[in-house]
Amino acid sequence: MYLYNSATHKKEEFKTHTPGRVEMYTCGPTVYHFAHIGNLRSYVMEDVLEKYLRYAGYDVNRVMNITDVGHLSSDADTGEDKMLKGAKREHKTVLEIAQFYTDAFFEDCRRLNIKRPDVVQPATGCIDEYIRIISKLVDTGYAYLAGGNVYFDSSKLARYYIFNDHDEEDLAVGVREGVEEDENKRNRNDFVLWFTKSKFEDQALKWDSPWGVGYPGWHIECSGISMKYNGEFLDLHCGGVDNAFPHHTNEIAQSESYLGHPWCTHWFHVHHLNTNDGKMSKSKGEFLTVSLLEEKGYDPLAYRYFCLQSHYRKGLVFTWENLDNAQGAYQKLVGRIAALVPGGEVDHEIFVDYKARFLQQMGNDLNTSMGVTAIFDVLKAKTNDATKLALIGDFDTVLSLSLLDKAAAKRAEIAQAQTTSAGGYVITGQGDPEIDALVLQRYEAKKAKNFAEADRIRDELKALGIEIVDVKGGVNWKRV
Ligand code: AMP
Ligand code: ZN
Repeated sequence: MYLYNSATHKKEEFKTHTPGRVEMYTCGPTVYHFAHIGNLRSYVMEDVLEKYLRYAGYDVNRVMNITDVGHLSSDADTGEDKMLKGAKREHKTVLEIAQFYTDAFFEDCRRLNIKRPDVVQPATGCIDEYIRIISKLVDTGYAYLAGGNVYFDSSKLARYYIFNDHDEEDLAVGVREGVEEDENKRNRNDFVLWFTKSKFEDQALKWDSPWGVGYPGWHIECSGISMKYNGEFLDLHCGGVDNAFPHHTNEIAQSESYLGHPWCTHWFHVHHLNTNDGKMSKSKGEFLTVSLLEEKGYDPLAYRYFCLQSHYRKGLVFTWENLDNAQGAYQKLVGRIAALVPGGEVDHEIFVDYKARFLQQMGNDLNTSMGVTAIFDVLKAKTNDATKLALIGDFDTVLSLSLLDKAAAKRAEIAQAQTTSAGGYVITGQGDPEIDALVLQRYEAKKAKNFAEADRIRDELKALGIEIVDVKGGVNWKRV
């Protein structure tokens, strides 16, 4: 697979530390509120990436944290703990908030066909891990104590890594408008590893540590959790593009200083879902959720389809009109698949040929819109329905649009909905008035005891590829 690596700023052949195995890490949600559909864009694309890697034959170990402590309202280590903010807003405890929004997140994921990672670890469950890492960083001179907190000393690094989408302006954390400077920091890019002096004394979750009772900074959780479950060599690290700086930059700084060797080779950043007013964000308070889309009558998978239609390295603008278009296109696609008739033998040669093309198209920097196009190519292919359905089912193990299930449901729905009746005689078919008329003629011939005519019509229907089954009070027909 060729994948853009934001650490090297180019599209590269994806390689892993252990051949055939991918150690993959994803920054999970901060569970102080519902995930918005922007957050979920990142998780949809990461889900497709994971599924594609498995499809391509890799054994994937995917780890995700749940941020339930330490993420302050500013990424520059100032402001209030977001969890505390959520708890106050809802008059609940931090743990109640964390549990509620973690469950809500996975429910959203379920509705969007996002697979649960192999390991899901709340940040509060690995405190010993962070203390171990921070202790070593203090011992080796990479971290210092100031004003009761432990800081990472960015001046000790040969290179403080900056991803390509950021410039010096972004790095001026301390001087950005509205962001308070932390006077304890020796250098502008230093960051907190462990807080004991929170600006807010009522911090709910605290643990004992060699530096006093306190809680971890936000960045250390991802290094700690990844090292615990992925090991010392990470192949692939994912997140939304806003995580690149300072979060991922700081993860690299602390992990490599701790390990003494390069840590993660490949960085995958999903660009933002924006509205016409700019980036969708939880802290703005007003945002769109999957539940809201459902309340408005949208299928969550139409949103997934919307995400897949565009490339993960391009910003995506959300408008209701765009979603309507995606929903229309998705339903049309399901309709076309529903018109295929299941059963019969798969043409192996064609199957292998189209599968190879899909693998190659998606393997070009996760080109999901080409992946969706591949389904239309299958529908147009000169082959039988069995082969088409097999290919669509195969591609959908990566795209996860529930295409075969939806198509089967649609077929059943059509069969049910297309029931007509004439004089108490019920015809259940697939919505073709001409066939219905022939079926009725046969019934009338039988009623008039004109069996020769009834048989002739049955043969005529058979020649049209229609199978009829007489049932009590009527007939069922289908195309075979
Ligand atoms: P959070 O819950 O704020 O920690 O964010 C969860 C994930 O969503 C992170 O990977 C973020 O980078 C990502 N994210 C945040 N806002 C957006 C957005 N508007 N579009 C796409 N991804 C986003
Ligand atoms: Zn992270």
